[in-house]
Amino acid sequence: MSVAFVVEKFGGTSVAGPDRIRVVADHVARRCSRGDRVVLVISAMGSETDQLLRMASDVAADPPGREVDMLITGGERKACALMAMALSDLGVPAASFTGSQAGFRTDSTHSDAKILAITPGRITEALARGVVPVVGGSQGVSGDGDVTFFGRGGSDTTAVALAHVLAADYCEIYTDVPGVFSADPRLVPQARRMDVVSFDELLEMTASGCPKPAMRAVELARTYGVELHVRSAFSWMPGTTVTGEEAMEHAIISAVTHDASEAKMTVSGVADKPGVAGRLFRALADTEVNVDMIVQNVSREGVTDISFTVPKLQLDASRSVAVALIDELGADEVSADDSIARVSLIGAGMQTNPGVAARMFETLAAAGINIEMISTSAIRISCVIRAGDMERAVVVLHESFELDKDPADRASVY
Ligand code: ASP
Ligand code: MG
Repeated sequence: MSVAFVVEKFGGTSVAGPDRIRVVADHVARRCSRGDRVVLVISAMGSETDQLLRMASDVAADPPGREVDMLITGGERKACALMAMALSDLGVPAASFTGSQAGFRTDSTHSDAKILAITPGRITEALARGVVPVVGGSQGVSGDGDVTFFGRGGSDTTAVALAHVLAADYCEIYTDVPGVFSADPRLVPQARRMDVVSFDELLEMTASGCPKPAMRAVELARTYGVELHVRSAFSWMPGTTVTGEEAMEHAIISAVTHDASEAKMTVSGVADKPGVAGRLFRALADTEVNVDMIVQNVSREGVTDISFTVPKLQLDASRSVAVALIDELGADEVSADDSIARVSLIGAGMQTNPGVAARMFETLAAAGINIEMISTSAIRISCVIRAGDMERAVVVLHESFELDKDPADRASVY
């Protein structure tokens, strides 16, 4: 095996306690002894980020963003120092670095900081001395010199960005599942681990409910062509490779995802005339609401309904925005429904296979599941259904599209 230069990121469960930290250190030590060069990115131990956020809300109703970031990034700082100690203990020279020390310059949007530039001088210097750099994930420093946090799941972004600027061979994201699956294995025990998935497919998956890796990191990896490997820090098996190359498996459908984090809003009885949708969605955008699916009905007598989905967490804000516009839009009423879920089929092969949508709708119909909204992209079809039907929908779709089978053994046309 040839030697590799790799950025390895370990998530919270992988480094949840001293034993786990020692297991990971042992893995890194063995890699280094084979001649590989390794840069580590570590996230906070276990559920520490959640605990720190809870503490913040225990001491203040609306904690200042600067202080929240100072607090949360302490989780990663602690974890990477412990990891460097565990490596030293095994005779592997290692040094921990905060995001700032690793050269991550960001804007000053606290808890959602964007990377502006990376000057990884201290990391390359450490590597040149044969020292394993252990970098705190999801953090950097703003132009004002304040510590910033990239947001939840931001350590994946740190890892991909470092792999790019250091020109590493690839980036490995270690987590508690052995790769990317054709469906959530907790809902579908037969779900299949994919050997390969394309950036485009994985992006659609993360945008429609697949929790890992973080969407922002997948986007960054696609932009810079950073090859990603999603692997388990518990089984250490090969996992899933994410590349820009044409998937080798040629599956029509790769995965079915689900998402119960959104709610549906309907503004009914609005005039069907130019400017109405623009006014409504501009107002929502100005309130930073992330609107997802949008459906406008055929108008009757010049009047129509507009439905759209928003994150449940933004439901109250969205409702206020829409209610405030009732008179201006000439609407009858604004209603909200938070018992919906979205199931999606993702697959690059659906672009050239006209039967996929029909089969998806037939499969849901056969299971007695009503479809309330539909949206599509070139490689995704999503249906909004009742939340109570979600698990069953995932199971029947996975079965209908034979996602448990090797792609070569599935139907070649739908
Ligand atoms: N520890 C942070 C979080 O849980 C950052 C990360 O793990 O990526 O969101
Ligand atoms: Mg975490």
